[in-house]
Amino acid sequence: MVWIKLLATVARLSRELAEARANLKQAEQRLTALHQIALSLSTTLDLSRLLEVILEQLGQLWGYHHGAILLHDPATDELVVAASHEYSRAAGQRIAAGLGICGEVFRTGRPLVIDDVTGDPRYIEGVPGAQSELAVPLVWEGQVLGVLNVESPQAKAYGETDLDLLTTVAEQAAAAIGNARLHQETHHLAITDQQTELYNYRHFQERLAAAVREAQLTATPMSLLMLDLDFFKRCNDTYGHLTGDAVLQQLARLLRDSCRADDQVFRYGGEEFTVILPGTADADALRVAERIRERVAQHGFVTRSGRRLDFPITVSIGVAGYPRDAMSEVDLLIAADRAMYAAKGAGRNRVVPAGAGAPLLLA
Ligand code: GH3
Ligand code: MG
Ligand code: MG
Repeated sequence: MVWIKLLATVARLSRELAEARANLKQAEQRLTALHQIALSLSTTLDLSRLLEVILEQLGQLWGYHHGAILLHDPATDELVVAASHEYSRAAGQRIAAGLGICGEVFRTGRPLVIDDVTGDPRYIEGVPGAQSELAVPLVWEGQVLGVLNVESPQAKAYGETDLDLLTTVAEQAAAAIGNARLHQETHHLAITDQQTELYNYRHFQERLAAAVREAQLTATPMSLLMLDLDFFKRCNDTYGHLTGDAVLQQLARLLRDSCRADDQVFRYGGEEFTVILPGTADADALRVAERIRERVAQHGFVTRSGRRLDFPITVSIGVAGYPRDAMSEVDLLIAADRAMYAAKGAGRNRVVPAGAGAPLLLA
């Protein structure tokens, strides 16, 4: 009798040991996955690649999973697929923010574990044949940025430990997304002129150097416009500096609207602006400049309170091109500047190409 009892105990203990070993192995795999994800966070700079890596590593861990990271777009109130793994929706696809299981997780900021999606009216198909789903919110500094969602072809695939794991991963992913956004915003602020929302002088220097380098490498032409408002002091003296500021803002919008997507408009200084025209040469650049000049001269600029100005606002524009007028960015800038002053000298409200003007006294 004693022997039988003893044997039963040994059998139970070895069962428990096997179970403990299996649990340990699972825990070890999870730790490895978390470690890999943490490693990717510190080594992958590109955010969309990082999100893909996170989903791939979760996929390896679970062996069968499909997943997606959806981020909220406040402009349209939609969830946008930022990354996906073995999922029927590709990156860039959108769903209304309130819809589906992910929509609910986004709105409530609480995770959902669904054992059988086929019986759930909220479910929107993410993967054909999915049976269970686990969705957790991506929360950063108290704000729900989106949802991390995984689906499985097995019913009841996700338990408490899976929820814990995904929550930990979601915390890390949300921090990476939040930091990337902060970085983007800081960069945007650093290169933008706050008054006009145009690119600033600092960014102009970088872009001009890059545009000339690109033109040299690809042996294509490019042009630079230098604009200066005519008699702008009069506008300030007549209507005050705040209306002067408003006119600069209206002009900035007009310049942006007058350019193609590849062209770049900058506020060079106070009431001076520059435009980089990649791939545009000579007569074409002059045509762009002439179109801008004409649109400005005909535009109905208004005071801060919306009243039409009593006089038109006009601009003088100098145009210089690579390689015709200059071979370096500095020489290009000098050539465009010189042409702009030639336009002033010739009576203002006109476009002058480089080479047509009197030389400036250069130090
Ligand atoms: P010109 O045709 O020779 O260019 O005459 P101008 O009066 O435009 O030229 P000037 O360089 O003498 O004066 C430029 C004026 O632009 C003086 C300055 O007060 C004004 N200005 C520069 N930046 C700003 C700004 O941000 N806001 C306002 N309101 N005025 C500005
Ligand atoms: Mg001026
Ligand atoms: Mg000026």
